[in-house]
This record gives sequence, structure tokens and C-alpha cells, in this order.
Amino acid sequence: METKQFKAESKKLLEMMINSIYTHKEIFLRELISNASDAIDKLYFKSLTDDAVGLNKDDFEILVNVDKENRKITITDNGIGMTRDDLENNLGTIAKSGSLDFKSNNELGEDVDIIGQFGVGFYSAFMVAKEVTVRSKAYGADKAYEWKSEGVEGYTIDECDRDKVGTEIILSVKDDTEEEKYSEYLEQYRLQSIIKKYSDYIRFPVKMDVEHSRKKEGTEDEYETFIERETINSMVPIWKKNKNELKDEDYNSFYKEKFFDYTDPIKHVHVKTEGTATYNALLYIPAKAPYDYYTREFEKGLQLYANGVLIMDKCADLLPDHFSFVKGLVDSEDLSLNISREMLQHDRQLKLIAKSIEKTIKNELSKMLKNEREKYEEFYKAFGLQLKAGVYSSYGMNKDTLCDLLMFYSSNEEKLTTLEEYVSRMREDQKFIYYATGESIQRIKSLPQTEMVLDKGYEILYLTEGVDEFAIKMLNTYKEKQFKSISAGDLDIETPEEKEEIKAKAEESKEMFAFMKETLGDKIKEVRLSQRLKSHPCCLTSDGDLSLEMEKVLNAMPTDNKVKAEKVLEINPDHAIFGKLKELYNDDKEKLKKYTELLYTQSLLIEGMSIDDPVGFSNMICDLMTGK
Ligand code: ADP
Ligand code: MG
Repeated sequence: METKQFKAESKKLLEMMINSIYTHKEIFLRELISNASDAIDKLYFKSLTDDAVGLNKDDFEILVNVDKENRKITITDNGIGMTRDDLENNLGTIAKSGSLDFKSNNELGEDVDIIGQFGVGFYSAFMVAKEVTVRSKAYGADKAYEWKSEGVEGYTIDECDRDKVGTEIILSVKDDTEEEKYSEYLEQYRLQSIIKKYSDYIRFPVKMDVEHSRKKEGTEDEYETFIERETINSMVPIWKKNKNELKDEDYNSFYKEKFFDYTDPIKHVHVKTEGTATYNALLYIPAKAPYDYYTREFEKGLQLYANGVLIMDKCADLLPDHFSFVKGLVDSEDLSLNISREMLQHDRQLKLIAKSIEKTIKNELSKMLKNEREKYEEFYKAFGLQLKAGVYSSYGMNKDTLCDLLMFYSSNEEKLTTLEEYVSRMREDQKFIYYATGESIQRIKSLPQTEMVLDKGYEILYLTEGVDEFAIKMLNTYKEKQFKSISAGDLDIETPEEKEEIKAKAEESKEMFAFMKETLGDKIKEVRLSQRLKSHPCCLTSDGDLSLEMEKVLNAMPTDNKVKAEKVLEINPDHAIFGKLKELYNDDKEKLKKYTELLYTQSLLIEGMSIDDPVGFSNMICDLMTGK
């Protein structure tokens, strides 16, 4: 019998399969079952118009059988079958452009990815089989043929005996090695679970002859085994069912089983669309962030199905980073099983689906915020950080999508509030959206800077997370109202008279402030009379874009590039300390130097910033205590 050579490209792919170190070799079964299902689809389609087929819809089936002793797995279908030419053309040549589009440079890293994410069709059988036999009879043909191959050496095609139309694929499972226990694929329960995992939603029944045992009739403790043909797959995916057939429990238990969570999700969304992007999707918002969510290890993505067949476990392209917490799946009829990753990334259909999914998630969150406030706050506790990071990242590209989903703690409401709510409460004369930053609500409340703003009746947003101010700065404005840190620049909260008064006082003490600035050197930019303090003696504020909080956050990161905010030491003109400073400026400049140093260090402490010389600070206070 003549041995034929594989075409060059096919040989390469085959080599890759045979030597694959890919750890999820189990997908070979998904590929073979999906081919069987395709073949049945074709004959089923024919049967609709051609009575000669002689099969009803219920007659079609895929049978998976295992012969442990002889180390064989057989996959049989009663689909359209293959002629001699089909066998030659379909199995001897991999003609599909998609599957070999990737760089077949045999760098394993790359290849492994391709196998995992897309599978590579029929040849994946060679990941677990040392010999593959395909026996097939095409519909309408009168002869059956057998294709056989042990791998790269080539294949043979010969006539064989087979009465029924359809295809039978026999795998001779490889021998176990140190690294790989191929025998696991000869275990019935293992095959069952692989079928459930990857092919649950194949439209035709995937059956197995399952061995059971029962008590022998008329005996006390004797057992006998019997075989029952069982359908392993459920055939109808939950996402293809009608929404009114499904209860919350159905959605939730599916979620927990599929996405390995113990807790019910906060929300599920069942999408069925037709039009520019035709797909079904089941989307879930988890109640809690997974333990690795805010780490580099976390991988976002939705499961991707092509017409009921799982082709990718985590398709990252379907989810924007700011919604990376969403779990779920997408099933589209417009995607092909053998599409390569590169192609998928550029796939127009996939992009449309991703856009539509982003919109859906946004709408659902907005709806939840409006109608189920408590639920939304629970969600926000888990994933608000991600939304805020989303505003900040990509140069603010997504800020318009996200700004109405943000919440911050409000001084007025003493709970989370949205920006829209804040703006709706703004006083007529109020120009800015005020915010304050700090480690905790408690800390912010006691900041010297908040007192006056609150006293004048303005609402402040309290920002307690590192990313908050970065997000706010990226937003810059909301509904044309500018954000304003209570620790930076002009707050515009005084009356014109108050402003004049301060100006005059500042002018009077100009030289003293210059002296104090001199004392502190380049630690600060300026010493100034404050317009924002009520009862507190002093505070630290910043000029320029970098705030004190941002300095803290950025310098806490592991980098050598330390940043420095332009700090301003502000003195309260209405506090007794101001009079004292003036007195010292006239009588005791050395002491004024010490006091300046003290006030500066105190301000640092109030801001929660580290001080350069704690021992020096402590000594200075002792000197003060002992009247030195
Ligand atoms: P794909 O399924 O993407 O076409 P495969 O490598 O999985 O790629 O299969 C190659 C071809 O072999 C199929 O397109 C089909 O024509 C043929 N084929 C494979 N398995 C079967 C089968 N069970 N019945 C009929 N044809 C089959
Ligand atoms: Mg295939």
C-alpha cells in the first residue's frame, strides 16, 4: 500500500502536535466532537429536503467509546462522511489559512498558546494518539475508505468495509511516559468530564456506553456490571434558552459552577441580540473581588463560543480593563472555530461584540445605581477602585463612559454620593467641586483645611484611596464644574472684604514670611497667610499640579524617581500664633527660626507625611517645654 506524504505545512503542524508539551491535551476530544457535529449538521441539512437520507433529527448522534485494554478511543458519527478525495484533501492537507497564520517557527511558547486558545482541528488527535485511523463512508457513495497515519511519515488510504454512512475515528492512545500519563484518557469518567467541559452544548447528543454495576438478582452481595448508553452533554446551553424559562437560581448556579465562585453574583445579564453584532451573552458581576483581582496575576476575559463550541476560555478582547471584573460568556454564530488569535484580534465581528458588551455593562451598572442603590454600593465597594483606575488610565480615554458610575464619600451626606448628586446640591454661587484627600474619612475630617470650607456650608468629597485624586485630576471637570482640592490654590470662599483684609495683613508681614521661607530653604516654596484656616494655626498646601497626596502615593511606589510637591506653609492670621511670630520677628529671630521649623513639621504630621528629623523635632519640643 502506498504511503502518501503530508503537504509541507500540514507536516509542520502535525509535528507540532506530536511533540506538543501543551498541558491541556484533552482538547483533542473537543475538536473531534466538533468535527463530528459539523458533519452531522451537513447531513441533517440535506435530510430536510431529501427523504433519501432516511434519518430524523433524533437519529443523529455522536458516540464516544473507549477500549481500555487495547488503549483505543473511538469517536463515531452518522454525519455526511468523507469520500476518498475528501480524506485526501481534508486530512492530508491543512488548507485553512487561519490555523497556520501564526508564526510556525516552532518556538513552543507561541504554539502552545495557539493550541490552547483555538485548537487546531483534526491534527490535535496526535497529541494523545500514536496512530489515528479514520474510517468513513460519504453520503451517496457506495464505497467506504480508511485513512491511517502514525504521524509525520505520511498516511495511507484504502478501501474498507463500512455499511453505514458516517465517520469513525479510532485513536491508539500513546504509551505513558514519565511526564505524561496518557492512560487517563482511557478512563470513562475522565472522557465524560471532558465532554461536559467543552462540548456540553453541542446540538446533537454525545453518547457513551457507560459501565454501571448492580446487585445480581436473587443474591445478597453479588454484583454484576451492565452497560447503558447515556447522553453526556446537555445539548441546550442555558444562554440559548428563553429568559422566561430561567429563574435567578438557574443563572446563579450556572455561574458558581462555571466560574468557580462560592457566592452568588450581584447581577446577571442575559443578552440576546441580532443585528450588526449577532450573539448571545451571559454576563455576571461578582459580589466580591477575587483574591487576586487587584494583582498582575489576574486575567480578565469572557469565554468565547462559536455556535455552542468553546473556542477560548478567557477572551480578553471582549472586555475593556475598566470592566475586567465581569465574568461570563459570549456565543456567536459568526465566528469560526479555527480562527487564529491574530485574526481574532482583528476580527470585525468580535470588535462589534466587544463594543456592544461594554455598552451593556455600562447600562446595567447605571440602572443598578439608579434603582438598586444598596446593591450598587456593595458592587462599588468591591470594584469601585477599578472604575476609578479606568478613569485615570489610557490618558482618560474612558472618562466619559465612567464618570457617572463613580462615587465618593460626601461631607454633607456622610455616605457615598455621585458627582451628579453633588453638582445638583451645589450652591448657586459655588464655582468648584471641593475635595479633600487623606488616609481615612476620620483623618480628612480633622484636617485644618476642611474646617473653614465646611463652616461656610460647602460640601466636600473625601477621597481616601490612592487612585482617587489621579482620577479626579484626569476628569478635571464634571458638568463644567472644576474640581478643587481644599489643599491647593485659591478656594474662592471668602467675601471680597475678607480678601482685602488678608491682602493688607499679608503685605504687612511680607518680610517676616520671607525670613521664614529662608529658614526652611527648599523644603517649601513659600510661607503665606492662609485664607482657608479657621481655628487651626497652620497647614500645608501645594501649588502646581502635584498635590501632597499624589506625592505620598507616587513615592510609595517602588521607584527611584521620587517626586516633590511644591509645598506652601500657610499661617492662620486669626490665630494667636500669628501674633507670636510677629513678636519674635522683632525680638528673637533665632527663636522664630525654631518656631518656623516646628510649625512646618507639625503641618507635615497633620498631612500624614513623613518628617525628615523626628529626633530633632522631639528635642525642639523638649526645649520648649523646659523653657530654653
Ligand atoms: P475544520 O473543522 O476547521 O474544517 P479540522 O482540521 O478539524 O478543521 O477538519 C478538517 C476537515 O476534515 C473538516 O473541514 C472536514 O471537512 C473533515 N472532517 C473532519 N472530521 C470529519 C468527520 N467526522 N466527518 C466528516 N468530515 C470530517
Ligand atoms: Mg474542526
